[in-house]
Amino acid sequence: MKTRKQKPEKRQKASITFRQFIVQFPNDEACLEHLFNNRYGQGHVCPKCDRKSKWFRFKAERAYVCQWCGHHLHPTAGTPFEDTRTPLQLWFYAIYLFTTSRHGVPAKELERQLGVTYKTAWRMADLIRQHIAEVDGEWPLEGDVEMDETVIGGYRPGIRGRGAKGKTLVFGMLERGGQVMTKVVPDVKGTTLIPLIKENIVKGSTCHTDEMATYRMVKQHGYKHETVDHGRKQYVNGNSHTNNLENFWKHFKGAVRSTHIHIPFVADIAESCNFWFTQFTP
Ligand SMILES: [Zn+2]
Repeated sequence: MKTRKQKPEKRQKASITFRQFIVQFPNDEACLEHLFNNRYGQGHVCPKCDRKSKWFRFKAERAYVCQWCGHHLHPTAGTPFEDTRTPLQLWFYAIYLFTTSRHGVPAKELERQLGVTYKTAWRMADLIRQHIAEVDGEWPLEGDVEMDETVIGGYRPGIRGRGAKGKTLVFGMLERGGQVMTKVVPDVKGTTLIPLIKENIVKGSTCHTDEMATYRMVKQHGYKHETVDHGRKQYVNGNSHTNNLENFWKHFKGAVRSTHIHIPFVADIAESCNFWFTQFTP
């Protein structure tokens, strides 16, 4: 769920099934054609001769040729797969995994599913995340961002807070004066939260968190970090607090309780990535 000060244009598409993926992208050629059609398409005006052209596939490269002057268009230019030897279909499949995952895709998982080396998998995941952040970049979080996690749902008595069984763990990021993003997460490990942070928060921003160990990792990823120690009942430490987010949780939980409806926790990453996937723009 995303709440924003201004309503964004409707831009999400439903995610596709694996079967649809295979039908739509059976091989590298289909992937290249998808990129070409989404970025240029037949009838695209040639940037060199300035004429509306029919474009022919130039088999020796990942390129299309102008019918009039022979100019080449490279549909992968400016994409994460521009200079890669990794087959396009694998890239697309990696993106597909990102679009269908509720909590990001660890490099280890890509390595296993794609049958590539860990190094390649890591690089792919990193580029895809960066790209998601850029494409979704109309609305990344930046500046002072509060982060916290909470547990919602379930009336089963049990352990409160982190690790409560049978409840839904939700991670939240709130830009002061900006939007809130919430994600359902399986746990609060670094492998889960750090990719979400990198996908949605501009590097150099200041992360305001409590003392949980995972949050200390943000420094290694190009963020500034300020903490409050909730364990010592410290709720404000200078400018550093998570009060806005706590406030948001309060209203959020109230809304869940009072309506008794299932809040659709559609992962924002899936939506934004799907947006990129289906409507690729340079
Ligand atoms: Zn031309």
